[in-house]
Amino acid sequence: SMAAKDYRYVIVGGGVAAGYAARAFVEKGISKGELAIISEEAVAPYERPALSKGFLIGNPPARLPGFHTCVGSGGERLSPQWYTEHGIDLLLSKSVIQVDPSTKTLKLSSGDSVRYDKLIVATGSSAVQFTDLGFSGADHRGIHYLRNIQDAEKLYDAIQAHKGKEAVVIGGGYIGMEVAAALVQNQVSCTMVFPEAHMMERLFTPEIAQFYEDFYRKQGVKILKGPSCKSFIGNENGHVTGVVLTDGTQLTSDLVIVGIGAKPNTKLLENSLKMEQRGFLVNAQLQTSDSNIFAVGDVATFPLKMYDNRLARVEHVGNARQMAMHAVDVIFGSQKAYDYLPFFYSRVFDKSWKFYGDTPKDATCLVFGEMNPKLFAVWVRGNGQVVGTFTESATPEEEKKIERIARERPVVDIAKLKACRTAEEGLNFFS
Ligand code: FAD
Repeated sequence: SMAAKDYRYVIVGGGVAAGYAARAFVEKGISKGELAIISEEAVAPYERPALSKGFLIGNPPARLPGFHTCVGSGGERLSPQWYTEHGIDLLLSKSVIQVDPSTKTLKLSSGDSVRYDKLIVATGSSAVQFTDLGFSGADHRGIHYLRNIQDAEKLYDAIQAHKGKEAVVIGGGYIGMEVAAALVQNQVSCTMVFPEAHMMERLFTPEIAQFYEDFYRKQGVKILKGPSCKSFIGNENGHVTGVVLTDGTQLTSDLVIVGIGAKPNTKLLENSLKMEQRGFLVNAQLQTSDSNIFAVGDVATFPLKMYDNRLARVEHVGNARQMAMHAVDVIFGSQKAYDYLPFFYSRVFDKSWKFYGDTPKDATCLVFGEMNPKLFAVWVRGNGQVVGTFTESATPEEEKKIERIARERPVVDIAKLKACRTAEEGLNFFS
């Protein structure tokens, strides 16, 4: 094979983090030919959350080049030409199949080799699939997952072919919720199935979830909580025709969408780097156990500075963006510690929620307002310290405010706070 091509900086993975890192490198003033991005995907980095939102709904729906990074945070749209103009080698449709940290060499699926001085690993996650779990019938056609643009294109076409028909959504997390909303908005009726007691179980309290579940039912979504998926049935052509649940129920449908979680893509380096919580352990400067290799986004397990450096791995876009920019700062000499305030959001139908902060077991959630349409919730510790904040249908100013509250963690008089009756009163309670 050919001699290895030398780069000063290489990013493995061409997702959200790669796009934000590329912009940061250019802002720092890199020279042409110093940076390469290697991506399995065929397109330049884009805002992945769009795939379950604008890509599936809207008239016209969102399509590339409309949602390349960094438009999701109101930034410049980095078109494929942008990379060329800045002398960044965007190596698309190529996977890195091997990394040798001792010689700082990457082997690509194309047979080429690439050398780096500093490496940023941003390989993201893959959807957990029922085939991996060995479920009977899981390889039938018509069972969809949603992680990349190819998945989204296939799902979009399937939805268009299903207008007026039934679909099944497996999973009650944000992917399941967003896809169910997109189906209904495309005149496809659907049943959501998940084993948990309520939607978004990892974040929502039963009370918050109730508002969303009632709202979903009003939109015509059927919700089956408790049973989980056991197997799939299909026809002689190998196409799915239904889902069998653990309680024996059979749902008939030839369109099934699965959102049951993600697994970080760490295989390349899991024998070379120190691992924690299924991710690459990084320090406050986002360096892995090899100081020339940074890990950012879904694959990185990092100390949460705000919470006594408790380790966390976060599969959310805000973290991918911020870690990417932070790693580039460090490469250019900053010693600042990464200081992430956990932030999650979703948009479904005409609704939009945001969450900031933490939901420790010893905190109680107080909910204000009835979601008509606004809702405000706070997680408060026994001593009155507010640690987490949530809004539905809030104004941008209110969203800024709840971010600040979660960052500052004020100690409040719980009895006085509890006296607030509406979302506005609750929000106005805080200065
Ligand atoms: P990714 O964006 O996944 O990028 C990883 C890239 O690496 C991909 O291009 C992949 O092909 C490539 N790659 C992997 N292995 C290799 C290899 N060996 N060689 C070359 N390339 C490789 N988060 C939120 O906070 N809010 C949301 O509303 C939200 N919505 C989402 C909706 C969907 C449908 C999905 C799938 C995710 C959503 N997320 C959301 C999560 C968010 O998109 C991710 O946390 C974020 O994309 C992580 O960025 P990343 O750069 O770490 O990984």
